[in-house]
Amino acid sequence: MPTTWDVLVIGGGVAGLSAAIAARRLGASARLIDSAPQGLRGGNARHARNFRIAHATPNLYAPGAYAVDEFLSELVMTTAGQTDMELAHSLIADTTDVIKWLTANGVSLQNPAIGAIPFSRRTAFLLGGGKAMINALYETAARIGVATDYDSEAKDLRANSDWTWEVEIRNGAATERVHARTIIAASGGPGAEPEWLRAHFGTQAEGLMIRGGAFSDGEWMKKLIETGAQTVGNPSSGHMVAVDARGPKADGGIVTRIAAIPYGLVVDRNAVAVESPGAGSGRTHHARWGARIAQCDGGRAFLILDAVGLNRAPPTALAPILAETIASLANTLGLDRVALARTVEASKQLAGPPFFAFPMRAGLTFVHFGLAVDDRMRVKMRNGRTFATLFAAGMIMVANILPRGYLAGLGITLSVVSGRRAGEAAARHALA
Ligand SMILES: Cc1cc2nc3c(=O)[nH]c(=O)nc-3n(C[C@H](O)[C@H](O)[C@H](O)COP(=O)(O)OP(=O)(O)OC[C@H]3O[C@@H](n4cnc5c(N)ncnc54)[C@H](O)[C@@H]3O)c2cc1C
Repeated sequence: MPTTWDVLVIGGGVAGLSAAIAARRLGASARLIDSAPQGLRGGNARHARNFRIAHATPNLYAPGAYAVDEFLSELVMTTAGQTDMELAHSLIADTTDVIKWLTANGVSLQNPAIGAIPFSRRTAFLLGGGKAMINALYETAARIGVATDYDSEAKDLRANSDWTWEVEIRNGAATERVHARTIIAASGGPGAEPEWLRAHFGTQAEGLMIRGGAFSDGEWMKKLIETGAQTVGNPSSGHMVAVDARGPKADGGIVTRIAAIPYGLVVDRNAVAVESPGAGSGRTHHARWGARIAQCDGGRAFLILDAVGLNRAPPTALAPILAETIASLANTLGLDRVALARTVEASKQLAGPPFFAFPMRAGLTFVHFGLAVDDRMRVKMRNGRTFATLFAAGMIMVANILPRGYLAGLGITLSVVSGRRAGEAAARHALA
């Protein structure tokens, strides 16, 4: 173990792994720490399925073509023009070789010609999902000499006069002080922090489920803000989807998502029909419904299906609640029987019993907020300068180009390209 690390990476999700591997491959000594235990390593990428890539010609994993400009224009549309155009363009240009980079680092992808995955020219799918990608990247990191510590949380930092850093790391009862020439913050966004949610999401906070892991809690981001880092985005805005309210409060992942809303009737806890204008029935309707459910009384709503609706519904992790009559459905869901009967009758959406119901809440995927960075992923300061030895990658900086909205597969892609860029820039600085 060196006494001074060239690159210390805080956070062992896909951004941190990409950064550590990239730095190590340039010859820097690299240490990666993660506050989660080994069994939960990898952050939210554990739940991911696919990633968005620009490509000019078909490849084994993504048919057709998806030009950098098309990718950029879709990002501009989804963010209503609020993205940092220059940074977005250069990071999107980097996505053209993400497939090559991931596969060179041991990650396996699905060939759409032989798998049961959706056809997509915009995204490539991970074979074995995000967990398999994470395992492959940890294996590569270990093989090339990245030092890794689990159960290790960065708690504090101090800049020396030469802009190297002392970082305090807590591992159980033990505290270690680590000296590093550069730091890469890859600790994710603040989405899993209850206090943050209460402060910025107000009355909606109590009703929210957290789709990702509880360790991506934004504490390290807050520490860097105290240290002078400039922020970007909206702390009260997040990407949400409709999830099964019976799932775990945190880390439910993708499987608790409710994707059958277009086939049934949604009511709130007063048994009043809920509409979500513009949600439509496309693949991303559940994202529009997430924000709508968060606004419902108590942050709760119920999807009610008849047998035809259930038949059209994709498989769910938790079985629907079955009821033979409206009265027993109301009783089981804790709704007013008369009000529910009136709403069902008025909606004309359900053919008749039996009924199937899913209790729903809004599940928060991430918050549109983070640290401002320059094109080398160096963290900007509030005083207008830039930290030469402090970098950020992944969800902690994504709000620079995604201050609102979402495009499927953007999280992993941006984490990989920003991680690589931060890792290489930090290594070059440390080795200069
Ligand atoms: C349910 C779900 C499904 C998703 N599906 C997709 C998908 O299909 N495609 C896609 O592109 N994106 C998807 N995303 C988004 C994607 O997972 C994220 O954008 C990406 O994983 C972010 O990676 P990250 O490394 O920046 O942050 P994170 O994954 O949040 O990782 C941060 C890591 O930092 C660690 N950490 C935090 N604080 C500290 C500290 N103080 N000290 C040490 N370690 C710390 C945490 O333990 C964690 O491991 C999904 C997200 C969720 C929640």
